[in-house]
Amino acid sequence: MTAVRGFAQVPAAEREVRIGLHRERTVSQALVMSHRGACQVFADGVRMGELPATDGLRIEPAGKALSARSLAMSFTAKRIEVVPVLATGGFRLKATDRKGSERDYPGRLEVVPANGALMLVNRVPLEPYTAGVVSAEAGKEHHQEYYKLQAVSCRTYALTNQRKHLPEGFELCDGVHCQVYHGRNRNDSIGMAVDATKGLVLVDSDIKLIHATFHSNCGGETMNAEDLWSKQEPYLRATRDTFCLAAPHATWERSLSRREWLGYLDRRFGFNPADSGQVHAVLQYEPQCRDLYLGNTWPLLPLKHVREDLKLKSTYFSVRADGDRVLLRGRGFGHAVGLCQEGAMAMAKAGRTYTDILHHYYSNVHLVDLSTLDFFRDEGDTLRPPGRGAGPQAR
Ligand SMILES: [Zn+2]
Ligand SMILES: [Zn+2]
Repeated sequence: MTAVRGFAQVPAAEREVRIGLHRERTVSQALVMSHRGACQVFADGVRMGELPATDGLRIEPAGKALSARSLAMSFTAKRIEVVPVLATGGFRLKATDRKGSERDYPGRLEVVPANGALMLVNRVPLEPYTAGVVSAEAGKEHHQEYYKLQAVSCRTYALTNQRKHLPEGFELCDGVHCQVYHGRNRNDSIGMAVDATKGLVLVDSDIKLIHATFHSNCGGETMNAEDLWSKQEPYLRATRDTFCLAAPHATWERSLSRREWLGYLDRRFGFNPADSGQVHAVLQYEPQCRDLYLGNTWPLLPLKHVREDLKLKSTYFSVRADGDRVLLRGRGFGHAVGLCQEGAMAMAKAGRTYTDILHHYYSNVHLVDLSTLDFFRDEGDTLRPPGRGAGPQAR
């Protein structure tokens, strides 16, 4: 819980996260412009001047340092900071050594040299960062309640995973490895959902921030965390879900030859293709609910390995042999632990509130304000956060 403790004195609205930008490729030249008012430019902590909206600062590596140039400034430094004058301001950034569009970020930019290239870090308040992630991850035209639950889980994820990239000099990256973030949110509906859930995060019954895992479609039944990752989490429990059954990723099919299928099971698990009883179990298999193992065979055939090896969309599928072909008919898409996105979208459309939806997919969790979290931390373990629908923090 150090991620939470470290913030004890800071009001929720001012909490910042440090995001490593463009981590998927190296950037060796960047153009920075200010957005919504001017930016102050600092070199190794010393103010160099102001960057007006009409100018741009070009930054590139120079030996073990950086060189920077604009119409009014020219300097070298080991660390450059671009800080917007207005609280609502920000900067625009373009990696000029390759194709790709310019992106607009809230908060400030820090640049240091890294192995002959640039390390670009966006220091951004938690709320605009959350809005940026929801707009990049959730996509357009969803229901307000769906955006609200996305805001809560993206905010929670950011704080739970704040130590992920610390050795590299920032907290989270801007790619799928952490959460996709392409800068400022431009969608009003998302902005409203983030405001309506401002500072709210999910904690478990021990008041610890949860790992708010999600997947595309559970196929009608989510999974216990320990069945997939061998670590139990009391809030990641298997639950039935009828809301996602008609969604785009509810079903899938894969056809392969009988020889491929049995050959794979033999090579991978030492399955004996000469044992007719066992062969029948893997050619005519119809799970009644989510199983961990395929058929009722020895050796055991763990479905999570079958899914990984054959790149199947889920571990929830039936097998039927027809002549020389074997047809796998599957349900769902993804690991099925935690929140089912397509089910959540359908619940939001059907009029459920975001709190109802979160409580459906995460067992015994509480929605609390970050400032309350600090309060409970300070009071020790005798206090519990307010329950669902009770107290000022339950919205
Ligand atoms: Zn990452
Ligand atoms: Zn589902």
